[in-house]
Order: sequence, then C-alpha cells, then structure tokens
Amino acid sequence: MFIRHNLLNIKSELPQYVTLVAVSKTKSVADIQRAYDAEQRDFGENKVQEMTQKYEALPKDIRWHMIGHLQKNKIKYLASYVHLIHGVDSLELLVEIDKQAKKNHRIINCLLQVYIAQEETKFGLTAEEVLELLSSDAFKKLQNIKIVGLMGMASFTDNEIQIQNEFQSLHTFFQHLKTELPETIHLKLETLSMGMSSDYLIALQNGSTMIRVGSAIFGSRNYLV
Ligand SMILES: *Cc1c(COP(=O)(O)O)cnc(C)c1O
Repeated sequence: MFIRHNLLNIKSELPQYVTLVAVSKTKSVADIQRAYDAEQRDFGENKVQEMTQKYEALPKDIRWHMIGHLQKNKIKYLASYVHLIHGVDSLELLVEIDKQAKKNHRIINCLLQVYIAQEETKFGLTAEEVLELLSSDAFKKLQNIKIVGLMGMASFTDNEIQIQNEFQSLHTFFQHLKTELPETIHLKLETLSMGMSSDYLIALQNGSTMIRVGSAIFGSRNYLV
C-alpha cells in the first residue's frame, strides 16, 4: 500500500505540467506493477539489461526512461522501446542512438545531460559543450533523434542554497538555449529534467518540468540483495 500512498502524496504536490518519473532501479516487477496499478506510467532505470527485462515483463503502455550513463554498445537493446534517454553527454553517443533508432524506424527522444554540480564525479556536458554540439554539422545531419531538453543533477549536499543555485543555473541556461536556437525537426526544448527524492521540491521551484524520484516512492534501495 505504501507505494500508492507515496505516489499520491508526491503527485498532489506537482503542477500539471510536471512529469513524475518513478525511478524503479533495483526494485521488483511486483513493485512496479503496484505503482502501475496506481496510474503511474513513467518509470526510470539506469541499467539497460534490467530495464529490458522489466519492459518485457510489464504492460506495454509504460514509458521507459533511461536515466543512467549509457554505454554505446548497449543502445541496440533499448532502441526499439525506450521513451526518453536522459543522460546523453557526447556527440558520439548521439550518433549511435541515431543509428539504432534508424534501424528501428523510429525517432528517439533525448535529453542532454549538463554538468551543474561542484563534484568531480558527475557526468555531463558544460554549457559551452552543449552549444558546440547543437551547432555542429555532425549534429545537424542526424535524422532519427530529437533533443527535447536538458537533464542535470545537483551536488550531493545538505546545503539547500547551493542546490538551488545549481538548479537555477541550469534553468537559466535552458531558457537561454530556447531563445537562441531555432526549433528544428530534431531540436525542440520543452523538458527540464531535474530533481530527485531529496531535492525535487527545490527543483520544482526552479523551473523543473520532470522529476526523477525513486526512494521517496519505493523506499530505500538495498544494493546488497
Ligand atoms: C537513482 C537516481 C534517481 C532517483 O534517486 P532517489 O534519491 O531514489 O530519488 C534520480 N536520478 C538519477 C539519475 C538516478 O540515478
């Protein structure tokens, strides 16, 4: 029961334009089914194999979000069904996604991951690299991908001011890109994916349109089991 309860609580806090992605990594098919039965349709996973097994076992109207760092050689396994890839951080990756999307006769929606944290370990592009990528000829040649927005993760810290500053900087950059770059068939910036269990309320106050929430819905993850 607690999954439904948590979902309803979180949803009651969300403006209508915000999408809640339920992050179900390490959680069972039964837990995902419970969330599905409570009307949840967007789920996020960070490992291709785990996501594909769950895709095969669960209802086909689920929208699967790849939120982890994606390896090039794994794209072929999710290309037929993935709804949105959040963590794209290189042109090389985008070229491979385009190739696999073409093989599957579809367009794959992607978010560029932007580096906003003050930590060394997080993946992502700098603002300059995003601009460079989106204005490159190589990007303009791609036909089976669509960049629909940006994704970012704040620093792992208790300092709410710092988290707020990081989200705010990503929102400002998102707005800047929207005004600077014309929409094309493969660039339509409408999604800003930021906010997790510990910081989604701060993210919502700073322009987030998509939050990725795991433990606040499913309970904490136990990586040892
Ligand atoms: C695990 C994960 C989340 C969700 O984390 P919670 O703290 O459980 O809400 C969100 N985004 C990414 C990229 C993740 O890997």
